[in-house]
Amino acid sequence: MEQSFIMIKPDGVQRGLIGEIISRFEKKGFYLKGLKMVTVEKSFAEKHYEDLSAKPFFAGLVDYIVSGPVVAMVWEGKGVVLTGRKIIGATNPAESAPGTIRGDYAIVVGRNVIHGSDSVESARKEIALWFPEGIS
Ligand code: ATP
Ligand code: MG
Repeated sequence: MEQSFIMIKPDGVQRGLIGEIISRFEKKGFYLKGLKMVTVEKSFAEKHYEDLSAKPFFAGLVDYIVSGPVVAMVWEGKGVVLTGRKIIGATNPAESAPGTIRGDYAIVVGRNVIHGSDSVESARKEIALWFPEGIS
């Protein structure tokens, strides 16, 4: 069954949005297969976002991700990668539709609360990176 890697970023954790975010995915009907709270090292955040290493905002993005604990999750269900991205909303909260997580809870792209895999292939890589111990 399809899986996606979803991460509540440090601002989402600090603002008390963990329950709300998990609830949205659960109510949709997806299955929570793995979850852990972890504070990652810079090198780990760089690896997670390695495809963006040439972007001007890369260093700031890495500093943001390491700024506090994140909630790393694996969600499962039919179409969870694409539907998960729809639940999350557009990258820039200024353009995210109301009703999406970013549309409802974020204002700026540099603090956009949540990450979701952008393809089944990325999900596979990200789950292997974040859950090397595997999930049950
Ligand atoms: P994510 O991968 O976190 O789910 P995304 O797939 O919607 O987000 P990406 O293009 O992969 O968007 O960008 C990764 C993250 O980098 C964004 O979620 C955001 O936190 C940050 N980011 C993207 N563009 C900018 C920007 N112009 N300025 C600052 N930060 C940015
Ligand atoms: Mg992305």
